[in-house]
Amino acid sequence: MEEVVNAYLMELSENQIIIRDTVRDFADKNIRPHIMEFDESQNFPMEIMKKLGELGFLGVVIPEEYGGAGLGYVEFVMIIEELAKVDPSIALSVAAHNGLCTNHIYRFGNESQRKKYLPDLTSGKKIGAWGLTESASGSDAAGLKSIAEKKNGYYILNGSKTFTTHGTVGETAVIMAITDKNKGKKGISAFILEKGWEGFIAGKKENKLGMRASDTTQLTFENVKIPEENLIGNEGEGFIQAMQILEGGRISIAALSIGLAQGAFAAASKYSKERKQFGQPLADFEAIQFKLADMHTNIEAARLLTYRAAFLKDKGLPNKKEAAIAKLFSSETAEKAANDAVQIFGGYGFIKDFPVEKFYRDVKLLTIGEGTSEIQRIVIARELLKD
Ligand SMILES: Cc1cc2nc3c(=O)[nH]c(=O)nc-3n(C[C@H](O)[C@H](O)[C@H](O)COP(=O)(O)OP(=O)(O)OC[C@H]3O[C@@H](n4cnc5c(N)ncnc54)[C@H](O)[C@@H]3O)c2cc1C
Repeated sequence: MEEVVNAYLMELSENQIIIRDTVRDFADKNIRPHIMEFDESQNFPMEIMKKLGELGFLGVVIPEEYGGAGLGYVEFVMIIEELAKVDPSIALSVAAHNGLCTNHIYRFGNESQRKKYLPDLTSGKKIGAWGLTESASGSDAAGLKSIAEKKNGYYILNGSKTFTTHGTVGETAVIMAITDKNKGKKGISAFILEKGWEGFIAGKKENKLGMRASDTTQLTFENVKIPEENLIGNEGEGFIQAMQILEGGRISIAALSIGLAQGAFAAASKYSKERKQFGQPLADFEAIQFKLADMHTNIEAARLLTYRAAFLKDKGLPNKKEAAIAKLFSSETAEKAANDAVQIFGGYGFIKDFPVEKFYRDVKLLTIGEGTSEIQRIVIARELLKD
């Protein structure tokens, strides 16, 4: 119980404070000066990812024997939160690399898959991609059409994936595909693919509204020969594995949301004290004070929900509903915070020279990616009503 109370009060341990300060310092020095350069060019900053790998932030929850940092979800949340305060698109890439591809191989891969693939991913030598979504199956992920047919010791993969984070830059990919058409969800399996395999093609890189430094790409598979040993777990387990991976992923998107919201709040609060109208700082107007008070209140609530979900996950306790609640509330809080921050900046909030313009664009992904707000509500309601 004491631990629960501590987690709620967010009393950080000495080690957690060191981690938080290290990320904060890294983001300030290495990311902040280049945010708009990354955004405008839509270039994925590989050098930043390599440095994050050196710091141990690309294998946060992976045990040290596979090159990871051996930390928990609470630390993972702290890292994503700090990155997102500065640049949500870098935070998205770090969240996806850690939480999706790398974590899928760690949680469901066998020992030889873990040994073969994890050290390069946790060190940042290779970037990970994870493909579930297809053009006709997003929220209804089980409706995917990519198909892997077993032949002579290989699975022959045909099909495509849409919106794959790191589809272009990723060198290791976990891909979900049908292995038995007659079994619905239970006929879906997960595979590890390597960049460079014949027929594994990175297609169109998407030109996005926000999160522009994070690479989002279509993937095509034309008779890709996947060695049998690259099946993760058993045939038919891919969909359930993917759903479990998304539960953890939701906590990381909640973390991204609270980071983004705090970034927007900090910028708006500072500006409100500097900008004068009618002879006084904006912060003296009650209308602005109330906006800041509401932003802050919602961010505090979102942080508590997010840390609770991370804490439950670290303890191995059920967290499906809590992760969905954290994701839903935090992403919608971030959306409102980014909107209010632009409003406080007035016309300057509409201009790219000021940081809230980018938060306003980046934030929209958070109520969509890794399960839309509507899907989170469905998950929460199902959990509430199942008894
Ligand atoms: C930048 C970015 C990065 C991404 N990265 C990845 C990745 O790395 N890997 C990956 O696999 N996917 C990734 N995705 C895909 C993402 O997870 C999907 O976009 C998301 O799950 C929604 O699917 P969709 O876009 O097909 O929308 P749809 O499912 O078509 O939904 C459209 C609208 O209908 C609503 N809706 C759908 N079904 C229901 C329902 N039953 N009840 C009520 N409303 C409903 C949705 O909430 C939404 O508002 C990424 C997407 C983006 C934009």
